[in-house]
Amino acid sequence: MKRIYLDHSATTPVDPEVATLMMTYYTEKYGNPSSVHSFGREAKQALEQARSQVAELIGATPSEVTFTSGGTEADNLAILGTAEALRKKGKHIITSCIEHHAVLETCEYLEKNGFDLTIIPVDEVGILSVEDVRKAIRPDTILISVMHANNEVGSIQPIAEIGKLAREHGITFHVDAVQSLGKIPINVQEMNIDLLTVSSHKIYGPKGVGALYIRKGVRVMPLVHGGGQEKKRRSGTENTPGIIGFGKACELAGQRMAEDAEHQEKLRDKLMNGILGSIDYVKVNGPLGENRLPNNVNVSIQYVEGESLLLSLDMLGIAASSGSACTSGSLDPSHVLLAMGLIHEIAHGSLRFSLGRQNTEEEIDYVLEQLPKIVERLRMMSPLYDQVLRQQKQAQ
Ligand SMILES: *Cc1c(COP(=O)(O)O)cnc(C)c1O
Repeated sequence: MKRIYLDHSATTPVDPEVATLMMTYYTEKYGNPSSVHSFGREAKQALEQARSQVAELIGATPSEVTFTSGGTEADNLAILGTAEALRKKGKHIITSCIEHHAVLETCEYLEKNGFDLTIIPVDEVGILSVEDVRKAIRPDTILISVMHANNEVGSIQPIAEIGKLAREHGITFHVDAVQSLGKIPINVQEMNIDLLTVSSHKIYGPKGVGALYIRKGVRVMPLVHGGGQEKKRRSGTENTPGIIGFGKACELAGQRMAEDAEHQEKLRDKLMNGILGSIDYVKVNGPLGENRLPNNVNVSIQYVEGESLLLSLDMLGIAASSGSACTSGSLDPSHVLLAMGLIHEIAHGSLRFSLGRQNTEEEIDYVLEQLPKIVERLRMMSPLYDQVLRQQKQAQ
């Protein structure tokens, strides 16, 4: 059976060029970057090149990039590390209700440990208001953490405006940019960002690698202590092959950004319009216009369960997701969709397709051919839908 992968917001395949490069650093150039001999030096040199490649993609200088084990660790380092560094200055933290669990749960952990937390709401398309952030600021606010683009509905937040606000008030500003990296431009200078989380496996790099950008002069306490690697910000022998792969993935993403975005936007609009045109009782979740990631489609299909849709699609080789990857498997509806005001039943019938470089028009055609049939079959088993049909008949 041919398989169609439409879950690139969960993870991406490793680019072959990236994988080939990494292999060298497993089998030939395997030195420890801290060693002084030639093996160590060649690993160190490649590590520093990767640091420059990551820095280049976000408008930073290489010394401001700290490698971590991924986006989750970078989010934890940003939030816990700021709280630890600034706890004498204040105990108030601001975040948004649509953050990734790596941010939300870390903030909630701090709240249980004596910090105050303000969670900013979003509007019906999943975008927060800068005015709400302004109103939430207190004299003891030490951190604002808002994601650049949402992983479920693809909404893009007004990061530059929030950055300006944070800077005016001398508050550390953290941005989770895992979903936006390589898809839309990011510039930590222009956007006044102090801490920026990025991850490799969402941009065609290997899993288990990420980085935190830490603006020069911004204080963050380390979470991991030991050998003092990464300027003492993250001890432990570096995942050299992974980091080098991440660097290469950043370079490729930078080169391909415009082309990738154009290709995926085209497929996105085709898929979204196709679904709207062929299935009744469907709602698009997230922004319709320009404030949406080029690769995200999220729809709620009424009178069906998202999980049943996923399973039926999977049987045809089509990989999508419902809610977020982390909550699939649990029956709790997505916190993001609920925050946007969707009622439970509608949030339950939601489906996310996230497109990637290798997807084709033919694949989208295939989904558009199969999905309406699946929906029709599942709805035939739904007592609620049966009621709707009967009401329609009566009204005629
Ligand atoms: C995937 C993701 C993360 C977690 O990154 P990992 O590298 O998988 O730990 C954090 N934030 C967002 C928005 C994500 O999409």
